[in-house]
Amino acid sequence: MPFRQLGLAEPILLAVRDAGYTEPTPIQIDAIPVVLQRQDLMGIAQTGTGKTAAFVLPLLSLIAAHRPQHRGVRALIMVPTRELVVQVEENIRIYARHLPLRVATIFGGVSERPQIKALQHGADIVVATPGRLLDIIRGREASLRDLEFLVLDEADRMLDMGFIHPIRQIARLLPRERLTLLFSATLSREIEQLSREFMTVS
Ligand code: AMP
Repeated sequence: MPFRQLGLAEPILLAVRDAGYTEPTPIQIDAIPVVLQRQDLMGIAQTGTGKTAAFVLPLLSLIAAHRPQHRGVRALIMVPTRELVVQVEENIRIYARHLPLRVATIFGGVSERPQIKALQHGADIVVATPGRLLDIIRGREASLRDLEFLVLDEADRMLDMGFIHPIRQIARLLPRERLTLLFSATLSREIEQLSREFMTVS
């Protein structure tokens, strides 16, 4: 199946072609149309299946489709590690190269200041580890009240690493009306519970 049939916006199809992708992977074929219809989604997928593009491509398409007046964060992608923050951000930059979007990254182990500044200057998409993000929004340095899209990536690893508490705290500060996508390499009772807690459809 060609990418064109999935309903993605033109600048994204162009970026996918620039990246040298000829066909969507199975998880992309399944997930992209669901996200484009603004339906919550839980995906069970390992790394290496193309799952990052499966959520980034349709999110970019939705974000590009309309520009609100506010400068607040529109999409939050939470991942377990700093390495993954960097990796997801690199993916976003590749797929958003024909779009005027601002991406900010948030993770621990480095100074908070530049991260706070990036948020305050206005970021459309934030890729973050939960602990540092919670510290920043608790300090009222940035708000997530305009959020439209939440992604929990590698949710099983986030649970294993004890991030359930900051994730719940952050979720309390987000609008209830939003799209939520949850990706996990494994399906466990805890992941099902998380999906019930965070999503309207699982
Ligand atoms: P991920 O599962 O998100 O870690 O992606 C694994 C690798 O697959 C990354 O290096 C992507 O650049 C690549 N990739 C994602 N989608 C496609 C596609 N449709 N065709 C070829 N490579 C892809």
